[in-house]
Amino acid sequence: MISEPSLVVAEVFGPTVQGEGPSLGQRAGFIRTAGCNLTCSWCDTPYTWDGTRHDLRAELRRVPALDIARRALSGAPNLVVITGGEPLLHQRQPGWDALLEHLARAGVDIEIETNGTVPPSPRTAQTVTRFNVSPKLQHAGDPERRRIRPAALSALHATGKAAFKFVCRTPGDVTAVARYTAAWGVPPSAVWVMPEGTNSARITAHLTAIADAAIDAQFNLTTRLHVHVWGEERER
Ligand code: SF4
Repeated sequence: MISEPSLVVAEVFGPTVQGEGPSLGQRAGFIRTAGCNLTCSWCDTPYTWDGTRHDLRAELRRVPALDIARRALSGAPNLVVITGGEPLLHQRQPGWDALLEHLARAGVDIEIETNGTVPPSPRTAQTVTRFNVSPKLQHAGDPERRRIRPAALSALHATGKAAFKFVCRTPGDVTAVARYTAAWGVPPSAVWVMPEGTNSARITAHLTAIADAAIDAQFNLTTRLHVHVWGEERER
C-alpha cells in the first residue's frame, strides 16, 4: 500500500478572508503549518511552536496532504494561504510538494506567508502565486542575524513573486523598513506596512502612528482585517 505523504499542521480552515497584504479581503482557505525558527515577542500564533506556553502534542497533528488540501478547498475559494509558524521549513517533507500539487491541480492561487529566513525550493518558487515575505524588525526580539537572512531574502525576491510585509509600531519602524528595502533593491510598490496588534484598538493606534510615514515612503498600507472582525478567535 502506498501511503499519502503528510505534513504536520496546527490548523486547516476556511472559507475566511485573507486579512493582510496585497490580497486583503479576498476569500480564502488557510493552512497553518507547525513550527517556527523565530521567537517573536508579539507572535499571535505561539501555539504552532512554543512548547513552554502550549501543549504542542495537543495543538499539532500530522495529516495526509490530500486531506489538508481537501479541507482548505472545501469552501471553494480562489485562494489558499499557507502560513505558520514558518511554512517553508517543511519544504523537504514529501507532503509539501504533494500539497502544492493538489492545490495547483485545483487551479487556486497559492500564497505563502513567510518570515523570509528560508529560501524557496525551485518547485515551491514555480508553483506558488505569491510569497508574502515578512522580515522582522528589532521589536520582534530575536537578534538581527537570526531574523534578517540576506541570502533567503534575495532568493525570495528573485522569484519575482514576493511582496514584502513589515509589522510596524512607530514611524521609526517605517524608517527601518525603508533602509532595509533600499539595501535589498525592493521597490516601495512591493512593500506593505502593517500595524502590530491582536485587537482592534491596538491595531488602530499603530495604524494611526505609521500611516503618514508609510505614505511618505511610497509604501502600501495594510490592516489586519480578520482581527478587526474576529479578534483573537482561532481558525478565522
Ligand atoms: S515568524 Fe511568525 S510565526 Fe514565527 S515567531 Fe515570528 S510571528 Fe510567530
